[in-house]
Amino acid sequence: MLRTHTCGELRLENENEEVTLTGWIQRSRDLGGMTFVDLRDRYGITQLVFDVNTDRKLAEKARKMGREFVIQVKGKVAERSNKNQNISTGDIEILADSLTILNKSKVPPFTIEDETDGGEELRMKYRYLDLRRQVNQDSIVLRHQMSIETKKYLNDLDFVEIETPYLIKSTPEGARDFVVPSRLNKGAFYALPQSPQTFKQLLMISGYDKYFQLVKCFRDEDFRSDRQPEFTQIDCEMSFVEQDDVLQNFEGLAKHLFKQIKNIDVDDFPRMSYEEAIRLYGSDKPDLRFGMQFVELNDVARGKGFKVFDNAELVVGINAEGCAGYTRKQLDGLTDFVTKPQIGAKGLVYLKYNEDGSFKSSVDKFFSQEDLKAWVDKFEAKPGDLMLILAGDVGTTRTALSELRLEMGNQLGLRDPKVFRGLWVVDFPLLEWDEETKRYQAMHHPFTSPKDEDIHLLEESPEKVRANAYDMVINGVEIGGGSIRIHDRELQDKMFSVLGFSKEEAQQQFGFLLEAFDYGAPPHGGIAFGFDRWVALFAGRESIRDVIAFPKNNAGRDIMIDSPSTISEEQLKELNIQIRKDEKQE
Ligand code: ASP
Repeated sequence: MLRTHTCGELRLENENEEVTLTGWIQRSRDLGGMTFVDLRDRYGITQLVFDVNTDRKLAEKARKMGREFVIQVKGKVAERSNKNQNISTGDIEILADSLTILNKSKVPPFTIEDETDGGEELRMKYRYLDLRRQVNQDSIVLRHQMSIETKKYLNDLDFVEIETPYLIKSTPEGARDFVVPSRLNKGAFYALPQSPQTFKQLLMISGYDKYFQLVKCFRDEDFRSDRQPEFTQIDCEMSFVEQDDVLQNFEGLAKHLFKQIKNIDVDDFPRMSYEEAIRLYGSDKPDLRFGMQFVELNDVARGKGFKVFDNAELVVGINAEGCAGYTRKQLDGLTDFVTKPQIGAKGLVYLKYNEDGSFKSSVDKFFSQEDLKAWVDKFEAKPGDLMLILAGDVGTTRTALSELRLEMGNQLGLRDPKVFRGLWVVDFPLLEWDEETKRYQAMHHPFTSPKDEDIHLLEESPEKVRANAYDMVINGVEIGGGSIRIHDRELQDKMFSVLGFSKEEAQQQFGFLLEAFDYGAPPHGGIAFGFDRWVALFAGRESIRDVIAFPKNNAGRDIMIDSPSTISEEQLKELNIQIRKDEKQE
């Protein structure tokens, strides 16, 4: 190589060694007759010194180099008089005696520092420069390590990595497909997989028993924050398993990653039913780093003449311990928070349990101290606590209170990013009613099996049927989800009929899978993890964009390569595609 060492490697032990380093110039400073240069590569930063008194010409050459020039330097390792504790090579510097400029660089459009002056748009346009920044290098390398550790863990358990195709036909994950026109089959299209779901089930029928794949998936969804049209899953499937086996194996994966990557021994993941998660936290992905469980007040709060409560389906609150001292302004702030259109509550009722034992609420007109005492008892509140209460229809009220709970968690510093609490949410409903199409849709996907004890409800009250479906949630983030599948042809047919598929439609879309079920499908089940999200969580980065080397922006565009973009008339012709005049892009 053009170097003997990396920029993160040299220590005091190397004193007096002749070394050759290569890298980019992070910055340089001229002090009297000396030029100090910070040389950077993936491994770290090493200080170089060019001294006019030793070699005037060399020092002058060094002085003329700009930021991000690529250089090769030879020199001797020396102890630094002014040590830098912040970097691993901070005890030494290189007294340079030769310098080769391997390549010049224009001045970069933003500084290559953790705290850069470049805005998002600019950094995305020059993503290759953005990726030089240490924070990004750390995240990308962390991603690699997590990928390797995942493969090690699964390999040790006899999982086989098998690639499945990208040019397929529609998969059943419920978003829109990205499609690719076929040149050789005019008028026909491939779809890119939203997940390898059907293929991994076919692999179980083929007898591979334990499958996994780190795989790109594609979903053409409307732009929502922190979604990427292409993303990576750790996709897994196992045969001859029950739900508990899948949970055990993959809780093991989570623990392995926590240990190997973050050196953290995490607690066992509790299991919580979907019903309980919604009732106690208003969310199917509760953040268990803190308590503040919901307390329902219907029986003590209604029937006292306060219309808002009397007309509500649900009166429910949380106890923010020790917050009775909240000021008017703080309480107004919370009211503004819950009444924002995105949250959607009509108002906020508070109840302070003062240190002197008295109660003060925003609805004192309607409730006696004795009434309020009954609420306090429900909350098991102590003097000094503040109870925050919402009312309305069950769904929106719970969702709004869930947001308020998270907001209070933030305000009270209860959501420490260095603390990790995982859980399994289990027993999801099999189906959900879709108002738009006026029919049931699979909450997970149509291959998810109903719980045995609920199968008899499939026809009369489908909404009551629970599924063998589960999600892994860490710190309020859904990291993965899966299910035990239907492996019985008749049950699968029934499921399609409940979902409103005609026999022909089911046959046309999933005939290949239904047919495969006739050839000895083993009981099977699996799970898929959102790898990007998991990496972001471990990296402590906000967005999955931060842990993807070349992500799309929030509008689904890659502004560096300018994609999506138009294609030539010839290409369109070959593909037999006509673009309507009014839809042509510039
Ligand atoms: N295919 C499912 C998904 O992408 C995961 C699974 O059921 O294994 O969410």
